[in-house]
Amino acid sequence: MLPDSISALISALSKLPGVGPRSAERIALHLVQTDSTLVKQLADSILLAREKIQFCTTCGALTEKSPCSICGDSRRDSFLICVVERAVDILSVEKSGTFRGKFHVLGGKISPLDGVEPEDLKISDLEKRLAHEPIKEIIIALGTDVEGDATSNYLAKRLARNGLKISRIGFGLPAGSGLEFADELTLNRALESRREMT
Ligand SMILES: [Zn+2]
Repeated sequence: MLPDSISALISALSKLPGVGPRSAERIALHLVQTDSTLVKQLADSILLAREKIQFCTTCGALTEKSPCSICGDSRRDSFLICVVERAVDILSVEKSGTFRGKFHVLGGKISPLDGVEPEDLKISDLEKRLAHEPIKEIIIALGTDVEGDATSNYLAKRLARNGLKISRIGFGLPAGSGLEFADELTLNRALESRREMT
């Protein structure tokens, strides 16, 4: 039997994404035997990052100040918005290196089976941006799974208005997956070969 404090640490670690019970145990046993200065640095950096990071009130990106550096960058194309599912997807698109517009994070995909309805996503925020920003094109960059398709079609219908082009990336993206699995070249081609929806 492990001491209570180690069991509690294992239990906390195993709630992290990608950390199974065995990894949690290995990490916990490592932490309790390693230099306490290093452990304190790790704990402090976790707390500091959690304290400092917030969601950009405009686009939903992870940022230390809101609006984020992308929203506040006047050199970026304000006519062009790339809609992504999660804040981390911004990193994938940024790594592709060619996109010079701005972003909007939906915060999920429509999935009635999981209880995610359109009103649970940041769609009305996007409509507000359409009313106040000079947006001419929306590029929908959601995954290629069933929910990604359904959400893209829903968005294309709901956001359709005069003078707004709505397109969706797709070409070359692995079927049924999210942006994080696409390499930079693939994502680049997918952006360039986006198909117009409306
Ligand atoms: Zn932002």
